Amino acid sequence: MATKTTIADLFPDDEGMILVAAHAVDGSLRHITEVANGAACGCICFGCKRPMVAKNGGDPSRMAYHFAHRPEDMVYDCTTAGETALHIRAKEIIEKHRRVTLPPTTTPGLDGKPVDVTPERSIELTDALLETATGELIPDVTATMPNGRRLFIEIANTHPCPQSKIEKLGIMGVEVLEIEVAGYRTTPLDDLDEIILHIAPRKMIHSSERKAKATEIAEERRRIEEKERQEAERLIAVYREPPSARHRKAAELVEEMSLWGFDEFMDADDTQPSAFIVPRCQWQAAVFYRFMDTQYPATVSPIDMVDRFREREWEKPDLVFMKTETSRKIAALAEDFKSAYEEVLAYMRRLEKAEVVYQKPGKTFYMTYDFKKNLKATLEALQADDAKRNVIREVYEGIEKLLKPGGDGMPDFEGWLQRQANRHELAVQEFLADDDLAYEVEEKLKEIKRVIEERADGLWGELPDDLMGLPMGDLVDRLMQTWHEAEESTGDGWRAKMESS
Ligand SMILES: [Zn+2]
Repeated sequence: MATKTTIADLFPDDEGMILVAAHAVDGSLRHITEVANGAACGCICFGCKRPMVAKNGGDPSRMAYHFAHRPEDMVYDCTTAGETALHIRAKEIIEKHRRVTLPPTTTPGLDGKPVDVTPERSIELTDALLETATGELIPDVTATMPNGRRLFIEIANTHPCPQSKIEKLGIMGVEVLEIEVAGYRTTPLDDLDEIILHIAPRKMIHSSERKAKATEIAEERRRIEEKERQEAERLIAVYREPPSARHRKAAELVEEMSLWGFDEFMDADDTQPSAFIVPRCQWQAAVFYRFMDTQYPATVSPIDMVDRFREREWEKPDLVFMKTETSRKIAALAEDFKSAYEEVLAYMRRLEKAEVVYQKPGKTFYMTYDFKKNLKATLEALQADDAKRNVIREVYEGIEKLLKPGGDGMPDFEGWLQRQANRHELAVQEFLADDDLAYEVEEKLKEIKRVIEERADGLWGELPDDLMGLPMGDLVDRLMQTWHEAEESTGDGWRAKMESS
């Protein structure tokens, strides 16, 4: 019997209101307006199958027409009538046509973007069953696909299939299609065929093909991650290799910086892993010098420095051009791992903290005015000390030259100077920085030199009491002996002959 009953009639807004029932004899759907009044309607409840009473007499504006359960059945919570009626209709449609359209399926690919798995397609169905309990679950409609797989069809009206049901269906390993009919509330049940079969929005809640594809992608991802992990471990081993090269010029920079009192800005005896083949203090000194050479507003960025180091081939070849993203991934396995860029940036930040440099926006740095000013003063003082050292060295070497004919015996100048400083419990630099001490040592040396020169001319003068730690007595004795012999064998020209030899 044809009916104009719509989905909306199955689910009236007034909750609990029942507008449709099944004919007790043929099970066909009857609307409240189509049946006789009272128990004579001959209908049963779609939900609980109990007999129903039609309340369709009198003025509908005073009391809306509806079906009711008999008072003696005391049924107050039968709310599945409309839903069951809809499922019956869907099953009838599917059974009649024996086909349904499955939507296209996708699954997230390696990059997270959807990958096509199956296209939209219409499939043949070999049977259709209504609400057959399968385990503890009651699918709305079940059918069998051409490949023999079971297809559960969920008809979603107001609510989509609940998550707990989705999970349980997933465990069962069946195909699950959800058809969304909420947009067709005003469509008569008789006109639902194409809507259920093809038109209504639908999605595959579970699809074995999609699952297989997802598994395949997950395996591929595992393979890639395993490869990445192996590569990361190889790079970590490279990172742990000690420095393999020393750069002569950089080593000189390190020595100079140390001389200037900047040991705190270099990791001299550093044994930490590194992205560089040269010792850490060497590239640190190179960065420091770059700052000294750069005049504001020019700045130094870690990228500039790394580019320079790359040109000089100071980076470990396996770690060149490492992206920060890659180094972060590796750092997840070895937290001390850093790219050359990260190491240089960390060093610049360290200088920033020590107020040697400032940072400008965009991760680029320059040496502070105050630091540059102090540095200039330090360098000037060091230059003055060097001048003093040269004067002392000149006198010292003069004595050495005088003594040469007697055989060499003068200590090395730097070692001797060190001992002079030690006598005052000072470092050489501090010793030279003291004008009085430097002048005193210069004068004492000059006095020694004068006495030796006079002796060569036959004037006997006493050597000073303080011989400045020089093994003078013995040397001068040997010298006198040599002079004497030369004088005897060559007559008056002995001095000229000695000096030219
Ligand atoms: Zn009922």
